Amino acid sequence: RGLGDVYKRQPLPSRHLSAAVTAPPRCRHNTLLQRYFQKNGIVFLRLCTRQRHLITFSDKHAQHCPTQCCTFQILFVILQANYQKNKRKLMEKIQMTTPLVEMDGDEMTRILWKMIKDELILPFVDLKTEYYDLGLPYRDQTNDQVTIDSAEAAKKYGVAVKCATITPNAQRMDEYKLHKLWKSPNGTIRSIMDGTVFRAPITIPSIHPCVKNWEKPITIARHAYGDVYKSVEIRADEPGVAKVVFEGKSGKKQEVEIHNFDGAGVIQGMHNTDKSIRSFAHSCFKFAIDTKQDLWFATKDTISKTYDAQFRKIFEEVYESDYKEKFAELGIEYFYTLIDDAVARVIRSKGGFIWACKNYDGDVMSDMLSTAFGSLAMMTSVLVSPDGKYEYEAAHGTVTRHYYRYLKGEDTSTNPMATIFAWSGALRKRGELDGNKALQQFGDQLEAACFDTLNDGIATKDLVNLMEGVEAKAVNSAGFIAAIRERLEKRLA
Ligand code: NAP
Ligand code: MG
Repeated sequence: RGLGDVYKRQPLPSRHLSAAVTAPPRCRHNTLLQRYFQKNGIVFLRLCTRQRHLITFSDKHAQHCPTQCCTFQILFVILQANYQKNKRKLMEKIQMTTPLVEMDGDEMTRILWKMIKDELILPFVDLKTEYYDLGLPYRDQTNDQVTIDSAEAAKKYGVAVKCATITPNAQRMDEYKLHKLWKSPNGTIRSIMDGTVFRAPITIPSIHPCVKNWEKPITIARHAYGDVYKSVEIRADEPGVAKVVFEGKSGKKQEVEIHNFDGAGVIQGMHNTDKSIRSFAHSCFKFAIDTKQDLWFATKDTISKTYDAQFRKIFEEVYESDYKEKFAELGIEYFYTLIDDAVARVIRSKGGFIWACKNYDGDVMSDMLSTAFGSLAMMTSVLVSPDGKYEYEAAHGTVTRHYYRYLKGEDTSTNPMATIFAWSGALRKRGELDGNKALQQFGDQLEAACFDTLNDGIATKDLVNLMEGVEAKAVNSAGFIAAIRERLEKRLA
């Protein structure tokens, strides 16, 4: 059959070999065919008859046989499977309707950010983002306005993904020649979104938690307002009476004696607000429904009969009025217990639930859990606002030490897992809110490809020593991401 027939034919030719033609490598027909097949996303192979190897047209050496033999027999192999795969790759990227709010960051994580986007997201998703550069130089240039704008955008669109950022200290002030010691971007975003941070470890079979009965991740939800973190303190250096006084706007006055000191001592006054506790409760119940996990909450209300009791009361009210039915429908449970009982139960549990903690308990327990599960580099973090807006990120920082090595041109093996999971979580959530199944599934597949890579024993240096039962091989960040991409392509084929 003439070449003309082949490239004009619609629909595409048969499943396997469509045509084997002999033509000089650069003849007109060859070029036309090449264009046709590339346009239709078909992998197009040539067979070098002398060496019997196949080379593709996308290979930049394809115009010449690599071994310089002069006779080519050109073989067009059209495999339907390849056609489907490449069609998706070249023409049918997953579409998005609503943009994600993208908050770029600093140092090593900014480098990883670009690698993740280029290798794992952009080839597969027609990515729509509203981009905010939260890198320290641009925060300084905009007097931190960019951080505020990014948080407002997260409130508007509902889903954001954030790279780790530097919270400047005096040393950073010199290093970056800053105008001012800008506040922590996470603190600014949290106060605008009014959210609760949920942290969960990424678990894999070859890294065993210290507690051997933990089979599933435990997610910590820490109330991030008030208590001892907003307390005032007095050093009493002589005998005297300490009191708590509340003067209501109505003129009502409440006064309680704390202690009648007969010598020196210390005094602390702390507070919380019903509004903040209620927001915390809503975020926790919403997140439990989202992730279909039980919710545990614990305080010490047997001792703190007004303060902690108010936390318990508000959680119960919010549960009864807004979430009880949905919990029953999903077969999940809300469970309140005393903090000491909770600690004992957590250690004996199999995992797989959310543990809501007051501010101090959350601070301490989240460090214990992340260490017990293995590594900070495998900890994800999501900020959830009481009205259901999400900001996904990694729990670790900008990995400064690795960045300085990277700047010196040294090879770095920084673990991108938590940052990849921030992207997969955000894309999945965006898909869920927009009813975009393909985007949701992409989030799942991306995570699955990460697990495939680790289960094959390919890992960054920080994990290699922790892995048991697999022959682990340490690779650099780029090598790790390339291995994930290979597996992701297989999964999406
Ligand atoms: P870090 O960036 O979390 O790193 C501390 C150490 O933990 C690293 O030096 C590294 O240990 C290890 N590590 C953390 N993440 C890793 C990863 N992905 N892969 C491999 N190893 C990892 O904390 P930092 O050095 O205290 O803070 C650096 C900057 O990050 C600071 O400017 C801080 O303000 C900022 N920060 C930002 C956030 C955020 O945006 N959410 C959170 C925390 C800190 P080795 O060097 O031993 O390999
Ligand atoms: Mg802590």
